[in-house]
Amino acid sequence: MSANLSGCRDTPVLKQRGQREVFCGLTGIIWLHRKMQDAFFLVVGSRTCAHLLQSAAGVMIFAEPRFGTAILEEKDLAGMADANTELDREVARLLARRPDIKQLFLVGSCPSEVIKLDLARAAERLSEIHGPAVRVLNFSGSGIETTFTQGEDACLAAQVPALSESDARQLLLVGALPDVVEDQALDLLSRLGVEPVRCLPARRAEDAASIGPNTVFALTQPFLGDTHAALVKRGARPISAPFPFGAEGTTLWLKAVAAEFGIPAAHVDAVTAAPRARAEKAIAAAARTLRGKRIFFMPDSQLEIPLARFLARECGMIPVEIGTPYLHADLHGPELDLIAQGPVISEGQDVDLQLDRVRAARPDLTVCGLGLANPLEAEGLVTKWAIELVFTPVHFYEQAGDLAALFARPLRRRALIGAQHPNRLEAAE
Ligand code: SF4
Repeated sequence: MSANLSGCRDTPVLKQRGQREVFCGLTGIIWLHRKMQDAFFLVVGSRTCAHLLQSAAGVMIFAEPRFGTAILEEKDLAGMADANTELDREVARLLARRPDIKQLFLVGSCPSEVIKLDLARAAERLSEIHGPAVRVLNFSGSGIETTFTQGEDACLAAQVPALSESDARQLLLVGALPDVVEDQALDLLSRLGVEPVRCLPARRAEDAASIGPNTVFALTQPFLGDTHAALVKRGARPISAPFPFGAEGTTLWLKAVAAEFGIPAAHVDAVTAAPRARAEKAIAAAARTLRGKRIFFMPDSQLEIPLARFLARECGMIPVEIGTPYLHADLHGPELDLIAQGPVISEGQDVDLQLDRVRAARPDLTVCGLGLANPLEAEGLVTKWAIELVFTPVHFYEQAGDLAALFARPLRRRALIGAQHPNRLEAAE
């Protein structure tokens, strides 16, 4: 995509480092374990880690879970026991009981990092013992200096070096989309004539892609910076495009992929006409509530920049500040080109200073983490939980209306409460 001189790519970025309010990368296990159907995620952590996972995935008590926590006890933390021996024993017990497990991820946590438990070496050792039937890999979900979507990035990046080599000319679709959304994307790509297409992560270990210098890859999530770097290191080439959020984002993403395979833009327009029209109609319904409303993004999910682009261009919202935990020029540049100058672009967080800016701006809607939502609501501000955006299917044409509706809902609810309690509305103004 050509540079857009009126966009935000060259806007000076406000960078702040201080106290942050975010979930840790273990959160990603909740959607990754649904996606990878023969994988098991073994968190090597504390009771706090186990509680986080259980409360985030409470529904799983009805099924045979595909994640668990090997709890580091006080004697492990004090170096009085050999945590590796206990880990080996736990893994042997788990794999003997669960022959359905073909991939085992040892997931690091704050406690395992603090005691410097080397999970990379543990994964190598356990792969020798339990391979080739079970492949053992490791990644970190620790909350030390990370944000919650980095768990998925770390998990996918950990898989890249283990993929076999291939010279095939192919597209790799990268990002853990819900199966139904992934199927829609594969169907669109097939109707455009893009093939073969492989996915990372694969649903089952036996479907894992092979990659090489003739692989081009397209990210579907803007938080996969480490995976992007790992794929480039293996010789694969990235396709630069806005992300497939909204009708416009989806069309531009498809056109960038199609161009790589020599397919003209006019063909993309023809093939996508019907789903694009459906998406535009659904977005227009929610945009009636969103148009002209001011929105403030606190840095949390790393989806902030693409979502601000979608809400500004397709729903008529006015971004006041777009905060992101990390700004990756290669990944976010095509998005910034499309956002008209005006909003503050900020990277990182000093939460108190940022809250001061929220209070001064008094936006109509603030997108933030769970910990900040209630205090801001108590001050009369309307909020949207960023974490909902990764737990809800929001990619590509068929979900574009739902994506816009996620932002319209809290505004409609506040309008109703305000109509019933005029004083509350006054406080929000
Ligand atoms: S990894 Fe760290 S931040 Fe996450 S639940 Fe465990 S102790 Fe808490």
